[in-house]
Amino acid sequence: MKVKLDEKIEPIFQEVIKRNPGEIEFHQAVREVLESLGPVLVKHPEFGHHKIIERICEPERQIIFRVPWQDDKGEVQINRGFRVEFNSALGPFKGGLRFHPTVYLGIIKFLGFEQIFKNALTGMPIGGGKGGSDFDPKGKSEEEVMRFCQSFMIELYRHLGEYTDVPAGDIGVGSREIGYMFGQYKRITNRYESGVLTGKGLDWGGSTVRTEATGYGTVYFVDEMLKMRGESFEGKVCLVSGAGNVAIYAIEKIHQLGGKVVACSDSNGVIYDPKGIDLPLVKQLKEVERRRIKHYAEHHKRAKYVPNGNIWEIPCQVAMPSATENEINGTDAEKLVKNGCTAVGEGANMPTTPEGIRVFLDAGIAYGPGKAANAGGVATSALEMQQNASRDAWSFEYTERRLAEIMKNIHKLCYEVTEEYGTPGNYVNGANIAGFIKVAKAMVALGLV
Ligand code: GLU
Repeated sequence: MKVKLDEKIEPIFQEVIKRNPGEIEFHQAVREVLESLGPVLVKHPEFGHHKIIERICEPERQIIFRVPWQDDKGEVQINRGFRVEFNSALGPFKGGLRFHPTVYLGIIKFLGFEQIFKNALTGMPIGGGKGGSDFDPKGKSEEEVMRFCQSFMIELYRHLGEYTDVPAGDIGVGSREIGYMFGQYKRITNRYESGVLTGKGLDWGGSTVRTEATGYGTVYFVDEMLKMRGESFEGKVCLVSGAGNVAIYAIEKIHQLGGKVVACSDSNGVIYDPKGIDLPLVKQLKEVERRRIKHYAEHHKRAKYVPNGNIWEIPCQVAMPSATENEINGTDAEKLVKNGCTAVGEGANMPTTPEGIRVFLDAGIAYGPGKAANAGGVATSALEMQQNASRDAWSFEYTERRLAEIMKNIHKLCYEVTEEYGTPGNYVNGANIAGFIKVAKAMVALGLV
């Protein structure tokens, strides 16, 4: 059953649906935030007066462009590029680029909208934005990926700048793609402007820990939630969906903290390894060979590969959805809770459906929504911007300490807000309210812009 929206907020939501037809993921992300905001308007009538909710739901600028490129056969291909510059009240637009065939405006807007609050929670001076393309990097040659990235940047570069808009990676965009885009930006502008993109390679302006940051940060966040309940990762059986950048480094940190990850996945199937996922093997398959996770089972006889399997049916104590949106539905959530799962930390953006969230909240388990739990990635991007601005490069240890501190602070901020608003431990409310208030206050201060 859906939570009823506050009577002042319901018409705003209806207007969002009307103005953005068919963008169902965007509607879902907006609704999830608005459900938390009723009590905020009571405490802060000025936000209503300044129409902050209406303004925050409307991107400051949306760019949609054609991306023509030639494949290896010499055939012309056309993709669509997006950059949604959602909110710059706290700093330059900041958020990743996603290259995936499912990308359309509704996906980029849901991601950009969530990014506003996530970035606010980090406490760093960054606004929210997101971009990407329906380009599918899967099966493309190195040269095709490069040509696509260069063509994408020929349009995007004019909208970027270290004080304007700073993209990074997301699904389908890692340091390889960032490299090709940075190279093209540098060529067009004749400027070595390191701070214009984050997620760069360590040899050319990138930050240590950026690769690991989203996964590590999500585990730190879950660790904080567990600590509140007098628990830890030690000895816990965990599931981490996905096998990309977020999943790999979540697994690494869980293993460092004494937990055991028994399964991971990709869009084709699930790998179950009762002895615990062999991470060096996953890294070799995914990061070096760029192959599918099914090949894991060729190396370990004890491991089981289930094509099209559902990872959430495997019993666990901690679940970390780290693949993509809406990967846990109500039935999955019920199964997880029934099987003894007591903590969920979202490495992906919006991986749990509204029905799933309801199940977790009603069961009273520790549920860390993506906006708060996976903010370590973008927070470390902001640390990369700091290093670029001061032409400095920090050690792994120092940067990781900063990341750990940021995650601790996000957890504390969210928790305290849930107490203040009478729903202690409801991190959905915590993240939405704490993130919203920061942005709303800045928007009021900056006037009607
Ligand atoms: N795409 C990541 C996210 O969802 C990181 C964005 C960034 O580093 O700017 O937060």
